[in-house]
Amino acid sequence: MSEAIPLTPISSYRGIGFDDRMDTVEFRVAERAHIVVDSDICRSCTTKACVTACPANLFAPTSDGGILFNYEQCFECGTCYQVCNSEGALSWTYPDGGYGVVFRQG
Ligand code: SF4
Ligand code: SF4
Repeated sequence: MSEAIPLTPISSYRGIGFDDRMDTVEFRVAERAHIVVDSDICRSCTTKACVTACPANLFAPTSDGGILFNYEQCFECGTCYQVCNSEGALSWTYPDGGYGVVFRQG
């Protein structure tokens, strides 16, 4: 029989709020947008799933049915790419080296 692996008590994980976590993150904004949204394709999208799925709230629906997008505070999580089901609406790459999310402390 194998030995039981000791578990870490839950109390040893400190509760760190979202704002405190975000204080450890810096965004170095590159000139090149690493995500490009084709708002013309978005106009025929019925779900607008990116609007609710993006944890950074970077997608905003426009009055003409399109999407306004700002890449500057993107977490690079890839969720928008996963939820978008319209081919060609999103072009997704990582930011160039040295740009994008930078963690200020461990
Ligand atoms: S990015 Fe994708 S999910 Fe978001 S509105 Fe455009 S087509 Fe729809
Ligand atoms: S990669 Fe994540 S944070 Fe960046 S735009 Fe997409 S869903 Fe939002």
